[in-house]
Amino acid sequence: MPGLRQHNVTAAQWSANGGALGPTDLTIPSNNVFGELVFSVDVQRQLLPKDVFKKLQTTLADGLPLDPALAGSVAQAMKEWALEKGATHYSHWFQPLTGSTAEKHDSFYSPTGTGGAIADFSGKELIRGEPDASSFPNGGLRATFEARGYTAWDPTSPAFITPNPNGATLTIPTAFVSWTGEALDHKIPLLRSMDALSKAAIKAVQLFGDTESKRVFTTVGAEQEYFLIDEQYYFERPDLLATERTLYGAKPPKGQELDDHYFGAIPERVQAFMFEAERELQRLGVPVKTRHNEVAPNQFEIAPLFENSNLGCDHQQIIMQTLKNVARKYGLVALLHEKPFAGVNGSGKHNNWSMGTDTGVNLMDPGDTPSENLQFLFFCTAVIKAVKKHQGLLRASVATAGQDHRLGANEAPPAIISIFLGAELSEAFAAIESGNPVDAGEAGFLGLGTEVLPKLPLHGGDRNRTSPFAFTGNRFEFRAPGSNMTVGFVNAVLNTIAAESLEEMATELEAKLEGGTAFDEAVTAVIKTHFVENKAIVFDGDGYSDEWQDIAAERGLLNLRTTPDALPELLSDTSVATFEKYGVLTKPEVEARFEVFTEQYVTKLNIESETAALIARTQILPAGLKYLALLDEVDGTGAKILTEEAEALVNDLVVKIKALEEKNAIHPAGELIDHAKYMRDDVLGAYAEVREIADKLEAIVPDDYWPLPRYSEMLFIK
Ligand code: ADP
Ligand code: MG
Repeated sequence: MPGLRQHNVTAAQWSANGGALGPTDLTIPSNNVFGELVFSVDVQRQLLPKDVFKKLQTTLADGLPLDPALAGSVAQAMKEWALEKGATHYSHWFQPLTGSTAEKHDSFYSPTGTGGAIADFSGKELIRGEPDASSFPNGGLRATFEARGYTAWDPTSPAFITPNPNGATLTIPTAFVSWTGEALDHKIPLLRSMDALSKAAIKAVQLFGDTESKRVFTTVGAEQEYFLIDEQYYFERPDLLATERTLYGAKPPKGQELDDHYFGAIPERVQAFMFEAERELQRLGVPVKTRHNEVAPNQFEIAPLFENSNLGCDHQQIIMQTLKNVARKYGLVALLHEKPFAGVNGSGKHNNWSMGTDTGVNLMDPGDTPSENLQFLFFCTAVIKAVKKHQGLLRASVATAGQDHRLGANEAPPAIISIFLGAELSEAFAAIESGNPVDAGEAGFLGLGTEVLPKLPLHGGDRNRTSPFAFTGNRFEFRAPGSNMTVGFVNAVLNTIAAESLEEMATELEAKLEGGTAFDEAVTAVIKTHFVENKAIVFDGDGYSDEWQDIAAERGLLNLRTTPDALPELLSDTSVATFEKYGVLTKPEVEARFEVFTEQYVTKLNIESETAALIARTQILPAGLKYLALLDEVDGTGAKILTEEAEALVNDLVVKIKALEEKNAIHPAGELIDHAKYMRDDVLGAYAEVREIADKLEAIVPDDYWPLPRYSEMLFIK
């Protein structure tokens, strides 16, 4: 049996072993593991001195700066709790611009000087860490001689224990700043944007008569798609190891055409993995809720319940890490890349986003009274306005090398940003726009004044999977983020642009009211003006159709197909002005992000193209040559035909590999964005030509000569 087939057999032989978790009696409270590894509010209530707990909670609830005097007591309690859980180390955990998380571990223990060691953890150590910041991307924010950066405790996201088979670490969510105070991470802008949105939204709800709410929180629930493949294949593929995507692979005879995977029965091994991953996530306080098969073979999805943006984004990182860690226990590897396999769907992350008051009102919920309806339409219009104005920025916020395989392909939203409202909502806006009462029938509401609004949907039944930004009943679902992305930045953008339009509209409404216009008339007028001005962004049709490309162009909407097209939108005057006005990012901070994201694009493509050249030359070409040698040993017309066929491909392959290697050797000087365009236009093109021949060879070279696991194996054996 050829080597590879043996691996298939081994891969398929998984069975639940002695380590199985087994079911537990969940009617016994202590068997409920949710949050057991979290220094949660409940734990804090038990362990902190009463006055400290109270002060801390008010500080957090009101979004006030932390009194450093509290830190000492909190650190003390946190340490005791962590030691009980077996933690020997603590770590400041942060989200640098690399797009993943970073951590630096320190032991609690320091020598006493008399032969012993004591566990120690001060308020100062809780509040501030000093990782060696010089190795994190900063986009020119920090000269290397001023390489200091600080991590600062984020008390709004609870610390937790990261378990390991051999110990445990107290993990403290932190923000990462340069010594001059610039944000070097994704958390700081997110927190700033939450404040900005809260201010603007509070102003708006107060005009609607809400006198109780003190703060508005944005919420996020991100559905995560991923692939699972047997780890044997993963480790046999240098491309997966280096880039998480298969750079070669012929289309298998069976792909996703049969539609037999989506929501299909989850294979036992995968389900065993899911049970354990979810259990781990629950212990970490991540409220995971939904799981199912996705469209592509071996593709799955996990979705948590939504939480406030800061916690939701932290938990998103934990979800990605946990999927990766737990998969290995099942002999699987979780692939989070946006497009690990050509020819089948890629993976995204649906960023469900909403805002709600601290009194529990979801502002993206139409509600069921006329006044709730009007307030909802006001907020909804603000979102439409924000997305229209900042479509370029939103597109840029999801631009990565991996995303370029996805956005605009007919499986993911198009690269054009547009909003889906659904029939009922569109009808309501049409009524406001025309000023004509609609025949609302039984289900209708008499508006507060002149208008008759149709009853708004409590839960939108209508689903449009082709829209990048869809209203889904009580939230908006931004479907463009990639599966591998940190969602912090995306949400910072959403919050900031919504804050801006809310404030503008609220100010306008306020002026009208002060001028004596009746309330509902004033609200309707503001909604109407801004809806009409921005409705070009609303599109309920098929986002995958060619027609939409034309309509969008006529409407003047942006169609930024690739990352180098999209990223410069970060730097547009509109983007920078909005970030600055709402104190979310300064111009240098925006420029830094542009630098870092562009550099990441270049670097990722560089790694891909070098890996591609290496595999082609050292694995695929030799396989072709071996085949030619085999053919050389046989006579006859058949062999002659095959030789000609293989020889043509092999010769062509050599030429194309050489061409790719030449392109790889060039690193154009000048602007970084031009380098990015070079990678996109020249290097990716040269790689695509190599791949085309390699994939053809895969279909003719003898099975046991072929060096790489095939799609038909990786995607189907589980
Ligand atoms: P679907 O696949 O139909 O979109 P899922 O149940 O998989 O639905 O995911 C829905 C996601 O939307 C969940 O993560 C859920 O928590 C989230 N969600 C629901 N309400 C809100 C809200 N108000 N704010 C943010 N996210 C929300
Ligand atoms: Mg969804």
